[in-house]
Amino acid sequence: MSFPTAYSLELKQELTAKEAHDFSLLPLGNPNRLSDRYQFQCSKSCSFKLTLTNFAEPNYTKAPYFTPGARNQTHDPYNCQLMIEHYQEREQEVASENHGCFSRERNKLIIDIDLVKGALAIVAKPRQKNENTPSSETSNTEITHQHSRSSSTVDDKTFRSHVKQLSTLVRYFLDYQSGEKYTFYNMDRQEIQLEKYFVSLAKAKQKGINLEEVHIYYDTAMVDYHLDKDNPDNNYFLIRFQHICSIDNINNRPTIIINETKSQHHGVGYKIKILRRAAKDREPLKVFFFGSFMKHPSRKFINPKVNPTDILDYLVFS
Ligand SMILES: [Zn+2]
Repeated sequence: MSFPTAYSLELKQELTAKEAHDFSLLPLGNPNRLSDRYQFQCSKSCSFKLTLTNFAEPNYTKAPYFTPGARNQTHDPYNCQLMIEHYQEREQEVASENHGCFSRERNKLIIDIDLVKGALAIVAKPRQKNENTPSSETSNTEITHQHSRSSSTVDDKTFRSHVKQLSTLVRYFLDYQSGEKYTFYNMDRQEIQLEKYFVSLAKAKQKGINLEEVHIYYDTAMVDYHLDKDNPDNNYFLIRFQHICSIDNINNRPTIIINETKSQHHGVGYKIKILRRAAKDREPLKVFFFGSFMKHPSRKFINPKVNPTDILDYLVFS
């Protein structure tokens, strides 16, 4: 989401990013000088916190812009003009967007629950990787070969297309939670509460959810970064979910270990950046996970049932 203007809490007025940046460079004593990159919000009537990038930096490569000043914030549900503008802009759209298992018609998201379940089942299958063919072009013989293999595995391209659909759906849900005025419907055009189709780890026990089954799970989580000075290849992130869950006789907060080097691959670099930031600012992160959990074979841990080097593909962060 972009923020064309922000309300400066120091100057008590709306500013564009360029204006705010110019004011941040003014010398001490100038009445318009801004001194704090964090003293911005969405508008006078919406206290969604914003931060200005490159604040007081005369030299930069990317033009300064406003970015959310904290995670998991919500725009004022009644007074945020930006959310109303977004709603109105979408109301003018002519074409709808098709994302496979759901589509968006202006401010309505129409979800094919069966296709979402299907996508999830595909994503949770063991992956068949064609690491020798990094380009998308595979010869006909190879394709035939892949299809003739058992359907118990999923090829990389199919996997990526389905994970993308689910991630986009989660993104819309997160935007909705932050204040975007979307309404969700099923294929019969009945309004639905999308969160009912996700499993909150806070309610998993109470709802009798078996964590060894495939779902879209979510919870807030804390991130720790473990540095190995002697061998940086061993640096890892530890994501610890907030809520205690159970599988059989194991009761614990599910955890995910992400090796910084080994789990790095095309398309997940920005997720590593989010983890680094979350480990530094100690602010909880909302984490969505596509798949199922399992008990650690020897210790009292609950972890995702995913190849550790691929784990970032199955996660969406707020
Ligand atoms: Zn707002």
